[in-house]
Amino acid sequence: TTRQLIMSEKLAAIGEITAGVAHEINNPIAVMQGNLDVVRSVLGDHTAEVATEFRLIDEQIHRISQIVTKLLQFAKPEEYAGYIERHVAADVISDSLPLVQHLLNKGAIALFREDTAERLVLMNRTELQQVLVNLIVNAIHAMPDGGTLTLKSRDEDREGQRGVAIEVTDTGVGISPDVLRRVFDPFFTTKRQRGTGLGLSISQTLVTRQGGSLTADSSPGAGTTFTVWLPEAD
Ligand code: ADP
Repeated sequence: TTRQLIMSEKLAAIGEITAGVAHEINNPIAVMQGNLDVVRSVLGDHTAEVATEFRLIDEQIHRISQIVTKLLQFAKPEEYAGYIERHVAADVISDSLPLVQHLLNKGAIALFREDTAERLVLMNRTELQQVLVNLIVNAIHAMPDGGTLTLKSRDEDREGQRGVAIEVTDTGVGISPDVLRRVFDPFFTTKRQRGTGLGLSISQTLVTRQGGSLTADSSPGAGTTFTVWLPEAD
């Protein structure tokens, strides 16, 4: 329809602008990081106070560059496409866990796993890992008072096509139906300045590009399940 056409043109335009801005931000950030490293090595971390200040600046620069990377990836996903390989889903889940371990510990969250998938999936490993980390971090954010994170992988057919389903389930705040409709929209976030609203949008793009899907199912107040489904690698 005309409306969809206008919408996709608008999104393309946003993508172009976003990519341009992100590229522009990247350079000064890299220079700042370089300067910081120099000052740091000249002054040394000779007092605890100075060391703390350096660490804070370092963290914030890192945060900006992560946001910029996300923006670029959203705007130009094709430039970020990597090698596609066959994987055992459970292995990729295991590789993702060290990246979120500190959040699990801090949040008093119990981890439960069940891996029965025997089929292999086809996807860039870093990208699949990124999708899982996004989902796990969101799940942890949804359980500020602790809870259980359940990760499952199993063989599952969809519309007669063989594949693997990976489930990320939390016992967190849940998502109301009106929010659920928008969670995959780019820049949609309920986390104000702490969120970019790009995690789920990028994740869905990455999974869909492999012929798979990313869906959500939630009971407000009880928890949420995000399901990645990928076709079997043959
Ligand atoms: P961000 O995390 O930066 O906000 P995302 O695209 O990853 O961006 O998520 C968009 C929104 O979806 C979040 O702000 C939150 O409202 C909602 N959401 C995502 N995962 C969950 C979850 N497991 N439980 C509750 N809400 C969630």
